[in-house]
Amino acid sequence: MNIILLGPPGAGKGTQAQKLVEERGMVQLSTGDMLRAARTSGTEMGNKVAAIMDSGELVTDEIVIGLIEEQLNTATGNGFIFDGFPRTLGQADALGELLASHGQSLDAVIELAVNDDVLVERILNRAKEAVAAGGTARADDNEESLKVRLMEYYKKTSPLIGYYYAKGDLKSVDGLGAIEEVAAEISTVLGG
Ligand code: AMP
Repeated sequence: MNIILLGPPGAGKGTQAQKLVEERGMVQLSTGDMLRAARTSGTEMGNKVAAIMDSGELVTDEIVIGLIEEQLNTATGNGFIFDGFPRTLGQADALGELLASHGQSLDAVIELAVNDDVLVERILNRAKEAVAAGGTARADDNEESLKVRLMEYYKKTSPLIGYYYAKGDLKSVDGLGAIEEVAAEISTVLGG
């Protein structure tokens, strides 16, 4: 089973992906995590995307499609969870083609529906918790980058809701509940 978790920053995509990995042995493909790893290891691509990521803007389709293609060629497991990808219509088209070329398809696109006030609160809390735990907050978890990330989401990513609805793949889940409640709703949508 291959699924997309769709929703704005802070909707809980990463948290729910992690639960699906633990419970179902699926493989999480997070382009955000891949890009952060590229930055940490200081690759040429990592250095190129650093400033764009910190500003909250999207990196180019070409870069993230390349990362996903690489994973589809190598990763194995009980289905893929696409987390934070696709984020543009171009990426969505490319994903459909890539899956088809691997003899695979999408089973569901799960939209985590939340309201903006909750997002801002969750993300700023995530930054505070990271610091309290002795770590450092993500460079883009600050109010200024957050505004840009939300705007990028509404301009470029939210059209995917209509795109997948039209394809008959969209399932909407209330992302405002507790982690376990949202996880239970996702399980129901995926057929238990
Ligand atoms: P995330 O961890 O998913 O919030 O991603 C962090 C940042 O990485 C985003 O704000 C973008 O700059 C970049 N990024 C991650 N995934 C994508 C994507 N699919 N398309 C474009 N940029 C992305």
